[in-house]
Amino acid sequence: MLFAAAIAVPMQWPLPPQIAAMLPMMPWAVMAAALLLSQIYQQGRMGFVVLLSMGNFGVASYLQQALGGSNINADVQLGYWLWGLTAPLLLLLFALLPSRLVFHPRAWGHWLLLLTVVFAAGLLWQQSALLAPLSPWLQTRQLPLFSWSPAPLLLLALQLIVTLICWIRYLQTKSHDGVAVALAQVALLLSSLWIGEAQQLALLATCLASAQLLLVLGLGHQLAFIDELTAIPGRRALNMALARLGRRYTLAMLDIDHFKKFNDTHGHDVGDEVLQMVAQRLTLVTHGGKVYRYGGEEFTVLFSGKQPAQVKAALEAVRQDIADYPFVVRSAKRKGADLQQGRGQRGEGGGKTVQVTISLGVANRTSNRTDTDAVLKAADKALYVAKKAGRNCLRIAPKAQD
Ligand code: GH3
Ligand code: MG
Ligand code: MG
Repeated sequence: MLFAAAIAVPMQWPLPPQIAAMLPMMPWAVMAAALLLSQIYQQGRMGFVVLLSMGNFGVASYLQQALGGSNINADVQLGYWLWGLTAPLLLLLFALLPSRLVFHPRAWGHWLLLLTVVFAAGLLWQQSALLAPLSPWLQTRQLPLFSWSPAPLLLLALQLIVTLICWIRYLQTKSHDGVAVALAQVALLLSSLWIGEAQQLALLATCLASAQLLLVLGLGHQLAFIDELTAIPGRRALNMALARLGRRYTLAMLDIDHFKKFNDTHGHDVGDEVLQMVAQRLTLVTHGGKVYRYGGEEFTVLFSGKQPAQVKAALEAVRQDIADYPFVVRSAKRKGADLQQGRGQRGEGGGKTVQVTISLGVANRTSNRTDTDAVLKAADKALYVAKKAGRNCLRIAPKAQD
């Protein structure tokens, strides 16, 4: 959307003078914030993508100024070409390389590669005579959609191919840094077409920087509140939700039955898959239940504004749904490392279907348990009763307790 806004702004659209004066500085400020936060949130790839975007904006601004006059210098055109060719390849390389923190000794290889490519491009630029035979390719073209572009079709083709690869990779990984790479490449493509328009370049870079900052912040939120294994909210999110609850609510504590035995028989990786399956089925709970991973193989479902009788059927439905789910143990999916961890971890599944069940303890806020800790404890006790009663069942805490 940010990009659509940048594209939609007509070339000669007059911005208020204060904004126009601040515009060239904005991308630097926002990207610096994104770079710093990516370091804090340990997002190496995101950091390098922001760094490359900063470099691209710097080079694009320099070329825009150098190209400003009507008499276009061949050296500057060569610089434009070198930038147009190397920048997308660098971006693609950093999208594929293992993620490393920008400011960390382990990123020495990334820095070496980056500096080598930049240095080599700089050297080639100095040796422009060597590239003289290419001069016919370096002529300015008028493109139908862009009033000013020196981009010959070869450069455009490369940029389009890299953009396509970046988007395909994002669609495969669906990761935050995948979308950051893809957006950075789209911005690079557009800025190589808009190289003659200073305002357009700065606006585009500001949009890109804002999108990168939002992605880094989104990732920070994910790190803080979303459980990595099951992709549902974790304990911290639960604690915050408990603190926001009103006077009427019901919560359920859920525990997978005989999970230790499951781990011992089929291996830890299969155990992890069970946790993912259970979390995913639990999120289908109706009546407004919000699901959290409490820890280990325990989950909590919160129903704000509800009494146990109102949610019992919804919880029984998920319990039954999980018990009926045909969980297939695929030994081939397990990792080699697990196979080396001794007899107990060795796979015995090989495609067989096993039943996974859960037990549930339910409690609500009452006059004798007014704080969330007491309600959680009551639900835990009810869960213990459900386990004692033979598992794969639900028990509700009595109203007057303790
Ligand atoms: P019960 O029916 O009484 O609940 O028996 P149980 O075996 O499920 O209970 P117990 O609490 O003894 O076992 C919990 C096991 O859950 C022990 C631990 O190894 C396993 N576990 C906890 N977290 C994870 C995890 O993230 N992944 C996997 N694979 N196992 C986990
Ligand atoms: Mg347990
Ligand atoms: Mg258990």
